[in-house]
Parts: sequence; C-alpha cells; structure tokens
Amino acid sequence: MVRVIHQREKCIGCNYCVEVSPATWRMDDKDGKASLIGGKQKKEFFILITTDDNLDTNIEAMDLCPVKIIKTEKF
Ligand code: SF4
Repeated sequence: MVRVIHQREKCIGCNYCVEVSPATWRMDDKDGKASLIGGKQKKEFFILITTDDNLDTNIEAMDLCPVKIIKTEKF
C-alpha cells in the first residue's frame, strides 16, 4: 500500500501533481489548491491510503512539487 501526505495549506496550485497523477489528485475550483481525492484530514495534513499502482506517479508528484509539501511512501 501507499501513503500520500499533503500539507495542503501551503499548496500554490501549480497543477503538477494533477498532471502526473490525475487518479489521485484534482484541483479545487474554490481555492485553487490541489486536493488528494479521498484524502482524510489530520490537522494541517491530508492523507490518502492507496494502492501500489499509484506509487510511481505520486513519487513523481513528490519530486516535482515546487514547495515540497507532498510525501509519498510505501508501507
Ligand atoms: S505540485 Fe505541490 S504546489 Fe503544485 S498543485 Fe500539487 S501540491 Fe500544490
């Protein structure tokens, strides 16, 4: 399984995560920030538990995010 963690408040809405992993990210029209689809909020973080097929694209999102607020880990 894969855990993706997003510190959403610091998102600058660049859209890179959505471009590389549209299965797990979408842009929120209301505030222009990215959201993890199905993510659960824990304090300032949103956490998504997903399947291994979303690992590579979310590692790419983690590497591309210009403000480094995505953490992707396998567990
Ligand atoms: S790549 Fe980072 S800053 Fe850009 S939209 Fe996604 S979470 Fe926000």
